[in-house]
Amino acid sequence: MTDAALNDGGAGAVDPRTAELAGRLEAVRRRITVAAAAAGRADRLPTLIVVTKFHPTEDIRRLAALGVTDVGENRDQEAAAKAEILADCALTWHFVGQLQTKKAKSVVRYASAVHSVDRPQLVDALAKAAQNERVAAGRAPLDCFIQVNLEDHAGAHRGGADPGDVLLLADRIAAAEGLRLAGVMAVAPLGAPPEAAFEKLAGVSARLVAHHPGAAAISAGMSQDLEAAIVFGATHLRIGSDILGSRPAVG
Ligand SMILES: *Cc1c(COP(=O)(O)O)cnc(C)c1O
Repeated sequence: MTDAALNDGGAGAVDPRTAELAGRLEAVRRRITVAAAAAGRADRLPTLIVVTKFHPTEDIRRLAALGVTDVGENRDQEAAAKAEILADCALTWHFVGQLQTKKAKSVVRYASAVHSVDRPQLVDALAKAAQNERVAAGRAPLDCFIQVNLEDHAGAHRGGADPGDVLLLADRIAAAEGLRLAGVMAVAPLGAPPEAAFEKLAGVSARLVAHHPGAAAISAGMSQDLEAAIVFGATHLRIGSDILGSRPAVG
């Protein structure tokens, strides 16, 4: 789709989906501004990453035309295909899903950041792949967020390293030439108020920053809980459904 098809300049008619996305994006940006002002950080707005998984490339093109610069995806195959189609859009791609080591080679071709680094083997695979891509194609170091598991109980959880393992992972990332240690990431546990989880994440972040002063980023906050994440210092928000609408069912 061309920009002309999206924005029919001149005639003044914007296609309905672009108008819908513009309205939803504006509403989310307003929530962020209000929450940041209430938290006394109006001058330090978090980076908005729009999570576009399952949504078509046409929507991502519309978002780029509306000023979105950062997008997130959680499956390599889908993300790689979209990044190739949208190479002309100058977008920053964030990988936010669970990642198998064998996908590292593919992810470093398009992603600027991986938010789901949670085990030493994945650090090593990303380090090797990023360094190779650096030599071959001149890519910048890959930003790595350590995903932290915030569940109180053992058993099924939404991914991530135990808080006690964060420093070891951090040292491993910091020592890798092709990687840059950005900070921490978490998904609030289901069925519990997000505030307690994000407060815990802020504590993990503070301990990390004491050892790695440059690793102050906190990737937290989704559609349902972005306000709570901002209160507890989120620097990167990952928002999907409140901007794009509900995700199409997977077939
Ligand atoms: C899908 C997803 C999001 C976005 O969630 P919404 O509730 O749609 O805003 C954020 N982070 C991760 C890791 C995701 O997989």
